[in-house]
Amino acid sequence: MNEIIRCTRCLLPNTLKQMTFDEKGVCNHCLKYEKDFSNWDEIKDRKRREFEQILEKAKKLNRPYDCLVPLSGGKDSTYALYLATRVYNLRTLSVTLDNGYLSNVAKDNIRNALAHCDTDHMYYHINKKNNEILFKKFVERTGDFCNACMREINYAIEFSSKGFHIPLIIKGSGRRVQYVSQIQELSSLNTPSYFHIVIKGSKVYHRFRHIARNRYKLEIQKVVGGVLDVAGIPRTFMMRFFPQHIGLYDYIYKPFNEITEILKLEMGWKDGGGEVEHLDCQLHDIPFYRHTLKIPNIGKNTFRSSGLIRQGIISREDGLVQEKYDLENNEIPPELKSFLSKIGLTYEEYVHAVVSSDKSAHISKIQKIAREFYHKFRKY
Ligand SMILES: [Zn+2]
Repeated sequence: MNEIIRCTRCLLPNTLKQMTFDEKGVCNHCLKYEKDFSNWDEIKDRKRREFEQILEKAKKLNRPYDCLVPLSGGKDSTYALYLATRVYNLRTLSVTLDNGYLSNVAKDNIRNALAHCDTDHMYYHINKKNNEILFKKFVERTGDFCNACMREINYAIEFSSKGFHIPLIIKGSGRRVQYVSQIQELSSLNTPSYFHIVIKGSKVYHRFRHIARNRYKLEIQKVVGGVLDVAGIPRTFMMRFFPQHIGLYDYIYKPFNEITEILKLEMGWKDGGGEVEHLDCQLHDIPFYRHTLKIPNIGKNTFRSSGLIRQGIISREDGLVQEKYDLENNEIPPELKSFLSKIGLTYEEYVHAVVSSDKSAHISKIQKIAREFYHKFRKY
């Protein structure tokens, strides 16, 4: 434990790629966070106004629904639904993807949320057996099935927003609360092209190719959105022509414990026995365990704890205690064992797939360039 060199502010170890430290030993991820969010108190009123302007514009378009909220039953999506319906009175459609791994806690939370607001709601249920074959293919080729699930969620968003002509998608996400999206060896594009390239030439292609439908059109829209962001042109500008996706925490931010209190009171939300992160997915421990296999000196909570330290929610000392415990007790999650036996892979095959995987091999060159450009120049 002592010999691990870590950022002096968060917990990230120097075994991550592209880590740099300043003269005080503070890592580039902490410095970026500080640069983007240290003046939050000064800009938060402006960000809230921007958010409200986007909602106003969506209302003015007078479509069947003002907005769509992807609802997983977790805290972030339920908070997005709460804001859309209870705070801003938007005509809201919410959509849930269930590929067989939506937890019972999440289903209860969804039922309760629907009873506490006036949204309409749709379930898109993908057959679990078929989905297992898809996940297996993703594990074999990329070491990770989460991208397949993320794409399915996005597909559900795409067809429902298209079907109802919905101008705005409000997601329970945001750069400030994304703990791994900036980590090079973990982040990947959840684009239709990535999905398409991974399953191409396999038996699941025929069954799932529609999930990557319209990929060129969708990716052009994404690039246009990115260019507008970089140029400082507001999201409202293109809303009339194609749906705009926003992450609510890019505009409105509260520490997660304040949010869960609101949700318990107002939306009948429950945390499933103290767990607040990713309680919506039955396989939720697997990606965190996967990180520990992929990168030396990473525990299952390293990224989340580091994010919470940056947000000032926990102290570095408390994070370190957890970290020490995690590194000494990194057991195989029970759900990984049962998942592997279901899809017919051994643990050794799984570890091999994770360790040898290179996701970037499945990303098209143009997308790599576009992503680097966007991350570099995006203003906050
Ligand atoms: Zn750091």
